Amino acid sequence: MNYYSLNRKAPNITFSEAVVRGLAPDKGLYFPESITPLEPSFFETIEGKSNTKIAFEAIKQFIVPEIPEDVLKTIVEETLNFDFPVVEINENISTLELFHGPTMAFKDVGARFMARCLGYFNKTNTNDVTVLVATSGDTGGAVANGFLSVKGVNVVILYPSGKVSDIQEKQLTTLGQNITALEVDGVFDDCQDMVKRAFMDVELTSKMQLTSANSINIARWLPQLFYFLFTYKQLKSKHKDIAFSVPSGNFGNICAGMVAQKLGLPVKQFIAANNTNDTVVNYMTTQSYEPKPSVQTISNAMDVGNPSNFIRIQELHNNNFEALKANLCSFSYTDEETKTALLELYKDYDYVADPHGAVGYLGAKEYLKNSDAHVVFLETAHPTKFLGVVEDVIEQTIPLPPQIEAVMDKEKVAISVSSYDELKRFLLR
Ligand SMILES: *Cc1c(COP(=O)(O)O)cnc(C)c1O
Repeated sequence: MNYYSLNRKAPNITFSEAVVRGLAPDKGLYFPESITPLEPSFFETIEGKSNTKIAFEAIKQFIVPEIPEDVLKTIVEETLNFDFPVVEINENISTLELFHGPTMAFKDVGARFMARCLGYFNKTNTNDVTVLVATSGDTGGAVANGFLSVKGVNVVILYPSGKVSDIQEKQLTTLGQNITALEVDGVFDDCQDMVKRAFMDVELTSKMQLTSANSINIARWLPQLFYFLFTYKQLKSKHKDIAFSVPSGNFGNICAGMVAQKLGLPVKQFIAANNTNDTVVNYMTTQSYEPKPSVQTISNAMDVGNPSNFIRIQELHNNNFEALKANLCSFSYTDEETKTALLELYKDYDYVADPHGAVGYLGAKEYLKNSDAHVVFLETAHPTKFLGVVEDVIEQTIPLPPQIEAVMDKEKVAISVSSYDELKRFLLR
């Protein structure tokens, strides 16, 4: 399978090239040249298939033969060695829990999959690849963990000193091996600026292979389509239409769901649930796309003012606004509404959500005002990842899950960095 740039000013390239590059030379996002629907029998028999078989069959058209079938099978098995349960909230709403991976964030799947693809391509390459990431907290841990001990890949994570939670800091700074944490004297934007500068620094990029690990990268983006198939497998026997409410930031996750739909998955509606960063909500009413600076909220993994994957969503709908409007609705919620939803889930349904899941729940409820579908909201992080907010709202302490407990006892190792020149010196050491 070849991939083209959505800016259409760069040559088409193979899967491996697209994974190593991340972004096309014309700054466009890569997109598969074709998406061929799976056989109807795939969906007719889905409840009898293992998750790894579903995942392998769904993604292989995008990856084989660049990665041979047997290697891809192993990658899928290693990536998916935990559960993806659908939990019923009430008669009309369920949640898909995506937090059972090693760092309890849904990004575990994309990060683990991409790391293994890159590791495979790097077997024949004598030069290491360096993955450079800036994190405001949650994403960094998933990336670091996903790439841990993958040969030929070094990961350098920049995080703002004192601005991430204790749990998040431990997840970033205690891994060792090929993972290095740089504690930046500054805020998240400073980390992000340093990373961007590094990618544009010719002196640096001529000496080392730098890559990023966000959902712009097809190997991190595409495997997210598995979640929607796993949901269908669990809910098919209900014989009801299924709609998905997806807490969205860069819109990578929801866009992967739309790829699953193109593969033949029956989806009644996609609901983009947003916090006050409402660029897409506005677009869906005005048809005018106006990116804005991000606003800080309690669901901070969705604090994005210019969602990078929205262009892929438009492409999937042939850049036809009416087609998009029929398939996607979107809503935005304040922090106050999010907290009220957290409390409601706890009080009425005995369910402890995290702030991102709570936004998804609000989107589900809103959609149900005019629909009799069954709505599944994606719970994208375990509540302990946002302990301060959640414990405050429900007035209960949440026991730490074993994955988190294990990391809290380990010793933090981080290198302090206060300027771009220090970062560069570190990278060139
Ligand atoms: C990254 C993230 C999101 C947003 O996902 P996108 O694919 O960027 O839309 C939502 N919730 C959590 C917890 C996240 O980490």
